[in-house]
Amino acid sequence: MTAGAASPADLVAAARAGRARAVGRLISLVENEAVEVRELMGLLAPDTGRARVIGLTGAPGVGKSSVVSLLVTELRAREQRVAVLAVDPSSPFSGGALLGDRVRMQQHALDPAVFIRSMATRGHLGGLAVAAPQAIRVLDAAGFDVVLVETVGVGQSEVEVSQQVDVTVVLLAPGMGDGIQAAKAGVLEIGDLFVVNKADREGAPAVVRELRAMVALADRSAGDWKPPVLSTSALQGAGIDHLLDEVDRFLAHATASGQLTHRRRQRARQEVESLALARLRATLPRQGREGLDRLASDVAAGRLDPYTAADRLLGPS
Ligand code: GDP
Repeated sequence: MTAGAASPADLVAAARAGRARAVGRLISLVENEAVEVRELMGLLAPDTGRARVIGLTGAPGVGKSSVVSLLVTELRAREQRVAVLAVDPSSPFSGGALLGDRVRMQQHALDPAVFIRSMATRGHLGGLAVAAPQAIRVLDAAGFDVVLVETVGVGQSEVEVSQQVDVTVVLLAPGMGDGIQAAKAGVLEIGDLFVVNKADREGAPAVVRELRAMVALADRSAGDWKPPVLSTSALQGAGIDHLLDEVDRFLAHATASGQLTHRRRQRARQEVESLALARLRATLPRQGREGLDRLASDVAAGRLDPYTAADRLLGPS
């Protein structure tokens, strides 16, 4: 039987057994908002909550994909099963230019304990907020010890992704005006760890110093963790083991303080809320006696105020 023809229960069983084809098929179903997703998530739920979910974000060109590839190698050396999910919030296509196709990831392609997949979320009804967590659930239930979620830092995407992972690693590199960029994009607030990659380049120590000063000033209300600023050189393979050790140190800290449990609850809350809102939005045009289009034209023409229109749609608040 092909994965395409398998029943939801068979697919889940195959994914649990670690079969890449079944895992990939499940993620495609999530991506396409297939009707089976609801049943699949019910079947997968008991096996979730075990993987460490590590988010990596940064501007294009800082070296995310190079660092991710080295992290996979290091995690394999530590006998961990690893999944990589590259989320491209700007593209309606999956399997495109993102890391899945890149030459440097090919070295992992034949390792059955490594799964690599890129995912597009534009056009998905619930967007990144719904699609990425479901894909992470699939990988978690498939028994991967670590799920690396790589996102291109554009717009709000990195903030959204940081809400869906256990730990957020923000990557920067010298020569890109990153210190200032970081402050602008609000990434100082979301990073649990900061990494200055391309440490082999001139100017790296200055970026580290600048970032340390900025991180010390940033208002972080979440616990007493002081985000470290680390250096890596993907080119020289330097600093990757230290990065993983620091990720583990953060997770141990967040587990002990209860912050990890809190984050996971927040994440679940957002997932439920996003799904509920997506459903509400999808049914709105049909809802209410008069329908959204009719109400909208009344509001636009000044015959009705928007509050009354919303009440007519949903009932009085
Ligand atoms: P991404 O767009 O953030 O995923 O960045 P890539 O991993 O594709 O890297 C962008 C470019 O920077 C590539 O040409 C890499 O070879 C190069 N690069 C990545 N890491 C390093 C590094 O540590 N040092 C130097 N000098 N170049 C690097």
